[in-house]
Amino acid sequence: MARNYDSQPRVLVTGGAGFLGSHLIDRLLQQGCDVLCVDNLFTGSKRNLDHLAGHPRFEFIRHDVTFPLYVEVDEIYNLACPASPIHYQHDPVATTKTSVHGAINMLGLAKRLRCKILQASTSEVYGDPTVHPQTEDYWGNVNPIGPRSCYDEGKRCAETLFFDYHRQHGLEIKVARIFNTYGPRMHPADGRVVSNFIMQALRGEPITIYGEGQQTRSFCYVDDLIDGLMRLMASPADCTGPVNLGNPNEFTMRQLADKVLALTGSKSKIAHRPLPPDDPRQRRPDITLAGARLGWAPKIQLEEGLRPTIDYFAGAHVG
Ligand code: NAD
Ligand code: UDP
Ligand code: UDP
Repeated sequence: MARNYDSQPRVLVTGGAGFLGSHLIDRLLQQGCDVLCVDNLFTGSKRNLDHLAGHPRFEFIRHDVTFPLYVEVDEIYNLACPASPIHYQHDPVATTKTSVHGAINMLGLAKRLRCKILQASTSEVYGDPTVHPQTEDYWGNVNPIGPRSCYDEGKRCAETLFFDYHRQHGLEIKVARIFNTYGPRMHPADGRVVSNFIMQALRGEPITIYGEGQQTRSFCYVDDLIDGLMRLMASPADCTGPVNLGNPNEFTMRQLADKVLALTGSKSKIAHRPLPPDDPRQRRPDITLAGARLGWAPKIQLEEGLRPTIDYFAGAHVG
């Protein structure tokens, strides 16, 4: 039994050099945890962790989770996986391996240590949903052979593995289905809609709306999301999820473009581009379960969250 009961928990965060992972690490360190970050720096950056250099309770290991990992920790947050469509479609086979082999290795690690493990799953498991808003009991509408499938099916298989390790090996699991989240430290060139629109507005370049811009998404600010993940990790053992975490306020991409233009004061024009294949038409989480089981609801609405995000992209960090 690899538990050290004399000190704060030792927490492993895979994908900790990425956007969500680096914010999670900040919060865990603030709570006094020892944090081990494992990341292969595929989409993440050490720059996201620069401010932690020399921190006595923080450690970084450059490692790919598709390979076994032998460390001693008390809790695992499994976030390692490219999240933006251009990144996860860059090497789709590697994306599926990261989700599936990565889950097997981290579950094997959790099984050896008998420790809790949380999976960063995604609203993409619902695909192009035929139920709206999406509840956790909806099984989804996913194309198994399209350009998004490496991510969607990889994440679905990871959920299957989590529940089979739970049933077969009695592992304590937590599965969070994360909906579109944004904030400082998103990669400015990751192609996601919030980073694209802000960078385009700041540079005075055309705002690229794919299709007519009538497709919808619900955007959660990163601080709210991290609060939800940590509440889920701290929840009772029978609270396995899957649980939706996201902001239920829904916007069309056209509305998002107008908000970004207004907040940046940009003179950028709108430019329509073809809609990518299998692009979900609408997405909004039903967060009743997160409210009931975790006492969680997002507090920061879109305009409030866009301001610090715009400041981040406008600042020296991204040049
Ligand atoms: P991100 O790309 O910024 O972070 C992912 C991190 O995982 C990066 O640091 C990357 O280098 C690392 N990584 C990728 N493959 C790896 C591997 N094989 N081994 C080790 N490290 C690896 O993305 P993010 O937005 O921070 O997303 C974090 C997690 O949350 C992902 O699992 C993603 O699927 C999930 N998620 C995010 C969102 C969102 O809107 N941000 C929505 C749904 C789900
Ligand atoms: N594993 C790991 N770290 C550990 C324990 C296991 O990376 O501390 C990996 C190991 O490589 C194995 C996988 O997790 O392939 C699944 O482990 P499990 O015990 O479930 O399966 P088995 O070892 O029986 O294949
Ligand atoms: N999108 C857009 N312009 C862009 C980037 C994305 O109109 O420059 C659209 C995209 O087609 C999708 C939505 O914005 O309908 C959200 O895209 P993102 O890649 O951020 O996330 P996901 O599709 O995975 O929700």
